[in-house]
Amino acid sequence: MKFESSRAKAIEKLNEFIEKNLSEYSKLRNFDFGPKKRSNVSCLSPHITHGIISEQEIIKKSLSKFSFSKNEKFIQEILWRTYWKGWLELRPNVWSDYLVELNKVKSEFKNNQNYLAAIDGKTSIECFNSWIDELKENNYLHNHTRMWFASIWIFTLELPWQLGAELFMKHLYDGDAASNTLGWRWVAGVQTQGKHYLASEWNIKKFTNNRFNNIKLNENAPPKISEKIYSIIKQNFNNPQNIEDKNLLIFENNLSFETSDFQNNKFKKIFLVSNKNENRSIKLNKKVVKFKSLLISDQEQRLKNNSIDCELIDMSEIKNIDGQTIGLYPTIGENLDYLNSNNIKLDFLYRKLDQCSWQYCNKGFFNFKNYIPKIISTFI
Ligand SMILES: Cc1cc2nc3c(=O)[nH]c(=O)nc-3n(C[C@H](O)[C@H](O)[C@H](O)COP(=O)(O)OP(=O)(O)OC[C@H]3O[C@@H](n4cnc5c(N)ncnc54)[C@H](O)[C@@H]3O)c2cc1C
Repeated sequence: MKFESSRAKAIEKLNEFIEKNLSEYSKLRNFDFGPKKRSNVSCLSPHITHGIISEQEIIKKSLSKFSFSKNEKFIQEILWRTYWKGWLELRPNVWSDYLVELNKVKSEFKNNQNYLAAIDGKTSIECFNSWIDELKENNYLHNHTRMWFASIWIFTLELPWQLGAELFMKHLYDGDAASNTLGWRWVAGVQTQGKHYLASEWNIKKFTNNRFNNIKLNENAPPKISEKIYSIIKQNFNNPQNIEDKNLLIFENNLSFETSDFQNNKFKKIFLVSNKNENRSIKLNKKVVKFKSLLISDQEQRLKNNSIDCELIDMSEIKNIDGQTIGLYPTIGENLDYLNSNNIKLDFLYRKLDQCSWQYCNKGFFNFKNYIPKIISTFI
């Protein structure tokens, strides 16, 4: 598997997927045929996470090929990401509590034999070991495999979900605070209280095309329990007025300014901000750091090609910027944490898609789904 670090390549991948594979997506998407045979899913998440291509672009392109009803499953999946993001924005303490809990279990489990065997891919479960290798080698796992992996981690290896979520964030090219934390919480049974995801031998065999044997799992474990209840904290996602002639900060989640809602606004200068491992609670693997930095350079090059004044800076240099500065909203995660913990107060610009979608993230995805036609009608 190869994840190329440019918008041009991401667009090529999107076009090819839509032309050749989208028609079979809903039928085949749950199969993990192995890393050499991934054409049944889009593999676009590393690019979408970094805003190299947007959800709107993908949905629009898919609808130029097939009708909404033929495309419904794919569009729903694309908007799961947007939903998880909004869900977390309305309950920011889920992320901050996760980091606190992670710190605690990290010291408790640092010498735990199950944990050490799991992260080295040396358990007695062949498929799990193979997925660990794949995660480290390709920095990507299929969605169904992420579900099996998390379930085995939590219910068969009996490890805390927080440590598994950390491992994913370290290695995934698409590592995202919302999709990852909430995906793990969902498998554990603390996202939808009392409902967990239990991987089973027959399901893994069927959807991996019988690639694995000896899958002895705990298929009867009860869901994990959390006493914490997170009420919605009302947020304001309105954009400030008079944004022009200010400096604009772009973080690692919005790396396609020239197709963004703000492409026609005139900013004084654009700063592309990268965030070092020293400033992250979860230290990223070298390949992930490199991938991010190549994506940021690709955005720099595209801005320069459009004669837009821009500069690459590190997070720690934001304080030194002269003049009024605003930022494209980095969303809950390590970048926003850095700004908050360093008392850097900025006005943020929110994407229209997020402003429109996040108001429907107060309940479950089932409810959110009803609003999908309304959401997409705002940009189609
Ligand atoms: C435990 C766990 C952890 C996860 N961690 C992450 C993560 O850190 N970052 C991340 O981007 N996704 C995460 N996911 C969601 C999902 O697994 C990936 O987005 C998907 O596998 C990406 O592959 P794809 O682009 O080929 O997906 P496709 O099947 O082609 O789907 C198209 C797009 O829809 C979105 N999407 C699909 N399924 C989901 C989903 N379940 N949740 C949210 N968005 C979805 C993604 O943007 C994806 O690129 C996680 C899921 C689980 C169960």
